[in-house]
Amino acid sequence: MTGQTKNIEFPWGHRRRFNAYPDYFRRLFGARVQKVSLDAGFTCPNRDGTKGTGGCTYCSNNAFNPSYCAPDKSVTRQIEEGISFHKKRYREASSYLAYFQAYSNTYSSLERLKELYEEALRYPGIIGLIIGTRPDCIDDQILEYLKELSLNHYVAVEYGIESCYDRTLERINRGHTYKEAADAVRTTSEMGINTGAHFIFGLPGESREEMLAEAEIISHLPLTTVKFHQLQIIRGTAMETEYRKSPAEFSLFTWDDYLDFIIRFLERFNPSIVVERFTGEAPPRYLAERPWSKKRTDQISGLIEKRLEELNTYQGKLYHLPVAPPSLCFGGRSGSR
Ligand code: SF4
Repeated sequence: MTGQTKNIEFPWGHRRRFNAYPDYFRRLFGARVQKVSLDAGFTCPNRDGTKGTGGCTYCSNNAFNPSYCAPDKSVTRQIEEGISFHKKRYREASSYLAYFQAYSNTYSSLERLKELYEEALRYPGIIGLIIGTRPDCIDDQILEYLKELSLNHYVAVEYGIESCYDRTLERINRGHTYKEAADAVRTTSEMGINTGAHFIFGLPGESREEMLAEAEIISHLPLTTVKFHQLQIIRGTAMETEYRKSPAEFSLFTWDDYLDFIIRFLERFNPSIVVERFTGEAPPRYLAERPWSKKRTDQISGLIEKRLEELNTYQGKLYHLPVAPPSLCFGGRSGSR
């Protein structure tokens, strides 16, 4: 560690070595903001037969749904239980975002979406929505409505993209191409709506170098936030069957490999995109393989940051493209990120 960059403020306005999600909200709202997950009873076109029936081969929504989420409870009740859950486990946040998380949360009529989203926004302390969905489950009508909502609330649409390679998307049965995903991101961002994306590292058939090359591809997208996950093989999924049959086709990361990979990836990644997480954390009982790390997500961020510091490096150190980020959008407030 040379110390050269120890005390500098990075382009994202703080001294952490990556453009971190909690700081993004602190910058935007001046306080800690907590997400409250919801399962509002949506399904998914890749499961109900519209696009496919089996779903993505790795998919198990149960493995990622917090215990308070259940579609038989109203949105209001889930928020109430979610807030009290977070108050017991974490420091108290002053504001909350309703995170429509399970399945495809724009996959319904506009009238139904309005009912659900507006029920969430009526709950005291909820200052906005984060809506997880597929790139092929969005249209101009929904985006127009979300644009209108974003005049007075924080609104973000998060797309599951998972890979930039069509052969991988086909292999994991996503039912859409990378181009469709990139188009959805661009259209959403052009409407002035905060736009996020999820990616998985370690999908079968992808080499480490191909995954690393995604840093540049993703950097070109007009994203506000991004979430990265290491591949976890979840019990009972089609991917578990594939893995049991041909384990040699999978190159699952060890923790040491992943740490090394993520540092190299971050160095090449657009510094204007906020990184929400580096890993997924399914409860061990859902995992077909032993978890590669018993560390919690927040500990992992700390370890990645420590490694960045040891190597005196940071997000975007090797990113050479011009940075032209979209502005932050919240209720008429905006600022560069
Ligand atoms: S799009 Fe999402 S909910 Fe649908 S099958 Fe794939 S991972 Fe599961």
